[in-house]
Amino acid sequence: MTSKPFINSERLLTSISDYARIGATPGGGVTRLALSEEDQQVRKRFAADVAGAETTLRVDDIGNMVAIRSGREALSPIQIGSHLDSVRNGGRFDGALGVLGGLEVLRALADAGHVTRHPIELINWTNEEGVRYEPAMMGSGAAYGVFERGWVGERTDRDGIRFGDALDAIGYRGDLAYRPEPGAAYLELHIEQGPVLDEADVAVGVVEGILGITWLDVVVEGQADHAGPSPMSTRRDALAAAAEIVSMVEGLAVEAGPPVVGTVGRLSPDPDLINVVPGRVEMSVDLRHQTSAQLNDLVAEFQSRLDAIATRRKVTVTVDRFWTSEATRFDAGIVGAIAASADVCSPGALRLWSGAGHDAKYAADGGPAGMIFVRSRGGLSHCEEEMSEDDDIAAGVATLLETVLRLDTALSSND
Ligand SMILES: [Zn+2]
Repeated sequence: MTSKPFINSERLLTSISDYARIGATPGGGVTRLALSEEDQQVRKRFAADVAGAETTLRVDDIGNMVAIRSGREALSPIQIGSHLDSVRNGGRFDGALGVLGGLEVLRALADAGHVTRHPIELINWTNEEGVRYEPAMMGSGAAYGVFERGWVGERTDRDGIRFGDALDAIGYRGDLAYRPEPGAAYLELHIEQGPVLDEADVAVGVVEGILGITWLDVVVEGQADHAGPSPMSTRRDALAAAAEIVSMVEGLAVEAGPPVVGTVGRLSPDPDLINVVPGRVEMSVDLRHQTSAQLNDLVAEFQSRLDAIATRRKVTVTVDRFWTSEATRFDAGIVGAIAASADVCSPGALRLWSGAGHDAKYAADGGPAGMIFVRSRGGLSHCEEEMSEDDDIAAGVATLLETVLRLDTALSSND
């Protein structure tokens, strides 16, 4: 008889600190840019670890690594995925937690001699961060048909090195035939990277979905003029109008309430001189909401408030909504299984939305998917100070294992 699998938190935490040595930075973080020497090292370590956990490793043509543990029935796999690449001077948990949590799940199954009905696939997606090669979530995007493989191969980094050449250089170009395909379920464990769980004093979050994101370029045109002789009453100051727009965007998001966010991150006045009234300002606006319809309504409200500011200040504004990432609501069955598992492993878990993109977004385009969040201390991420407590990590990984076991039992035999 086999026993019920359970995670070994000491082994899990040791893995996390071992992997954090690869590309370690002086401040306790990591730099493991996609397809770098550090990425190669961490991939070798991952390959060795999954080999010891009763799996077969396959690498696809984008370098996505898939460790497969056989199931006892001919079913689509239950997948666990995340990424081992990082930003420059990033934290040790972003991405690595999900992959190493998945590794611990495989090890726990092996320890218990537990063979699942479904095969289990553990995926290390290539280039989630999109720092060296833009855009982000490239490996999962390629796997789910968002990016064409030829286009991916031709992407270049700052030094002009092609993605395809860098992939060959680290020896991780595999076979197109090994692309992961949509499975019975896709699960991703990740640090929250925001303060919601920390503020609520809760270890684990059940993620409802990923917010839709839209980016707009706004150009404000007034009239440049001498800062001395031009009286306040006749000015058409583009920067003063832009300042109102910044506050308007903030107010719009605050009024809409969580999880809506709105940000002006880039703003450049022209001319940029001490004694000239700015005649022109270029600025960016980033708006995020739960559904495409709500996001569109938010943009419409933004536009109408913008028009009011322009009319009152006698400036002209042009808006270019140049990029939108549609919102993703995770599969209700998967979210329910995660919530039920969290009730057992980490009672009091909170439901929340992700403001950041993850590989689970593309996976959700292909099949049922869901995410588990672990509390980030102070909400900090993409920095060396990124921190999650040992107990929270253990609770998140236990929830992941419990979810796998529940779905393995619950999912119908013909999916
Ligand atoms: Zn990540």
